[in-house]
Amino acid sequence: MQTEGMVIHEHGGPEVLGRQVFELDEPGPHQVRVRIRAVALNHLDLWVRRGGPAFRLSYPHRLGSDLAGEVEALGPGARGVSLGDRVMVHPAISCGTCAACRAGSDNLCRTYQILGENTQGGYATHLNVPDDGLLLIGNALDFATAAALPLCTLTAWQMAYRKAQVRPGQTVLITAAGSGVSTMLIQLCKLAGARVLASTTNPAKVEPARQLGADEVIVSSEKDLTREAKRLTGRAGVDVAFDHVGGELFEKALAATRRGGRLVICGATAGFTPKIDLRHIFFKQVEILGSTMGRKGDLAEALPMMLDGRLRPVVDRTLPLWEARTAHEALEGRQVFGKIVLTVP
Ligand SMILES: [Zn+2]
Repeated sequence: MQTEGMVIHEHGGPEVLGRQVFELDEPGPHQVRVRIRAVALNHLDLWVRRGGPAFRLSYPHRLGSDLAGEVEALGPGARGVSLGDRVMVHPAISCGTCAACRAGSDNLCRTYQILGENTQGGYATHLNVPDDGLLLIGNALDFATAAALPLCTLTAWQMAYRKAQVRPGQTVLITAAGSGVSTMLIQLCKLAGARVLASTTNPAKVEPARQLGADEVIVSSEKDLTREAKRLTGRAGVDVAFDHVGGELFEKALAATRRGGRLVICGATAGFTPKIDLRHIFFKQVEILGSTMGRKGDLAEALPMMLDGRLRPVVDRTLPLWEARTAHEALEGRQVFGKIVLTVP
């Protein structure tokens, strides 16, 4: 069928995004065609658009990992949903048969694909997705809210609950308080009973971070992050630090972590090669844990909390899909608290 989206034909700046009509195949076996109503931006969209050795795209390529919409057509054998169901879509696809997938760690699958990165994504009116990646949202969430949830919830869930194993009474540090992942980390760590120190370089993001549950917000452009985290923990340092900024902020977060503490990272938007003082790792016995995405089952486990509002995404703004360039410019400019969502007419 004919469908329409915002596509790229080459890597580059926001200007490479353009509106185009294209042909979409009928859904294959165990696939479902979703009529997309909203698609949320992630930092990944910027990485893929800009390009790099890791990305091998087939053009025209559609970005977009986080989407919500309605079930419009079922491929042969598709199960679990009915026509017209309102759904959010799991943002990744795995083989389902390898040892990692069978063990439930689908995000360790060697053929793991994130929608819009190594497959076609959601910047369009329609997308075919596997039937095992659909989560029913009923009438509990509007589409923009639903689209803002999957990737950042999945990522934050694995970081907080599987990697760091945050427990009541612990103090955690969450950098870049305004990012999608951090807004979920703040909520998940509060739900676990932890005290949350958040950091931001932008004073305008202090109050929104507090409203989300952060107990203390450090403006790291005004005060030294490590020193403030130490001061707020009676010199001990935090039990767990979460970072996805990298660069100098990683160094500060590592130095702010207590003896025997954990530092969990899921990205490095500001620098891949921080200077690490190895003494901070071995002498303080800090565990540095890498994290990417999360288990499919974890998002299903989080679903009831998303539906009843215990976990809520922060939607900074919504724009029509056709204004994806403007949305990319806003995310690149970091003038965003939470998610930007594109609504699909
Ligand atoms: Zn697999």
